[in-house]
Amino acid sequence: MAPQLQGYFDQVDLMSDSFIARLAAAVAIPSVSADPELRHHVFKMADFLEKLLLALGATVERRPLGIEPARPTLELPPVILSRYGNDPNKRTILVYGHYDVQPALKEDGWATDPFVLSVDEKTGKMFGRGSTDDKGPVLGWLNAIEAHQKAGIEFPVNLLMCFEGMEEYGSEGLDDLIKKEAKNYFKDAEAVCISDNYWLGAEKPCLTYGLRGVSYYELTVHGPAQDLHSGVYGGSVTEPMTDLVKLLGTLVDNKGNILIPGLSELVAPLSEDEKLLYQGISFEMQDLYDGLGSETSIHPDKERTLMARWRYPSLSIHGIEGAFSAPGAKTVIPAKVIGKFSIRTVPNMEPKDVDELVYQHLNFEWEKTRTNNTMKVGLGHAGKWWVSSPKHWNFAAASKAVESVFKVKPDMTREGGSIPVTLTFEQATGKNVLLLPMGSSTDAAHSINEKLDKRNYIEGIKLLGAYLHYVAVEPQIEQ
Ligand SMILES: [Zn+2]
Repeated sequence: MAPQLQGYFDQVDLMSDSFIARLAAAVAIPSVSADPELRHHVFKMADFLEKLLLALGATVERRPLGIEPARPTLELPPVILSRYGNDPNKRTILVYGHYDVQPALKEDGWATDPFVLSVDEKTGKMFGRGSTDDKGPVLGWLNAIEAHQKAGIEFPVNLLMCFEGMEEYGSEGLDDLIKKEAKNYFKDAEAVCISDNYWLGAEKPCLTYGLRGVSYYELTVHGPAQDLHSGVYGGSVTEPMTDLVKLLGTLVDNKGNILIPGLSELVAPLSEDEKLLYQGISFEMQDLYDGLGSETSIHPDKERTLMARWRYPSLSIHGIEGAFSAPGAKTVIPAKVIGKFSIRTVPNMEPKDVDELVYQHLNFEWEKTRTNNTMKVGLGHAGKWWVSSPKHWNFAAASKAVESVFKVKPDMTREGGSIPVTLTFEQATGKNVLLLPMGSSTDAAHSINEKLDKRNYIEGIKLLGAYLHYVAVEPQIEQ
């Protein structure tokens, strides 16, 4: 029997003003994890959440993470672990969110004070740093608990919560904690839900089942002992930049084809089932052009564009360290240049296989240059891709929840970027992970004028609660 949710939905509507006031109180705490001066506010935000959770009757355990390795004068903010409900007859669901935010200064070009939630009553846009990333969704879970209590509706699951305060600064310490708690605090969890990404557009909700990984390389070419003047040495020295540009030119063409032999053979073939998922997706080429600020796309249609972004690898050349890049016409010959490029990886590319093919290719091309400079290539950082089954019961429940709130089936989407914690949760707990976004693509997370639409927040609170009801009763069919 489908869950009866009207009472809960009505209660959320009744309480919407207090939920917005709560978001305003959270936005007012500038919990910027990157800024040492503001670190005490990150701790203040942890206190804020702890107090709310305790008031709701949840239990809370603060997990200290010690000193920040790169900045030893700073203490890392705690991970807040919390449990609401302990009924062996109910399913247990683990949710994750983060309570720190990106830096924001009014001078960066914000139209309003970034740490004052400014609600535009006409458009329903609520501007403020952290509104959508990720304070809105984190409070969404708490608000869902409160609305159940006020409406006298039994909470459908045992809820485990994991809220961290360093997400916007590398999630320092989190991986180890998740691995440790997988068999402890998280041991009852039957599925995981993360609300920390966005709809593909502005209108239609989505569920996200895949993320690309990234492998980032540095390619160093070195020759002379110091920078030289081309008027004196041009023509008599083997120039590192010439070698580097040649090498970078062998990596990718302007149609997006990666030219490294063997790499495309690592990519999982496109199945008929998967192809179907792309057809109905609410996305227009104009959405891409708006994002680009131009019409310089590689593919002419939506399906190929989305596949290129989500399920195929891409290689981007990001920059050259040591090269002259200022305005003007300096006649320098750089002595050492470092080319930076990365590959966005997808199933079934094993990072170490990718590394090997990259090194093999560059060594082969290097030999062809017959140069007397030296070359070195190395991996900067790597994060693996993640893909889940959109047919898993965790997704089936979320899909029904979307329909109950928005009266439309969600798009099944993947993302081109990475959210490393997703894979960590999956590997550590062995459970299915679902990405269930609250905000929309227009929210400008990480940018100036970040906002969350009132509709996304209030309907999002309904959605998170509805998801818990559906996931409580969804038959447990593993797919
Ligand atoms: Zn976030």
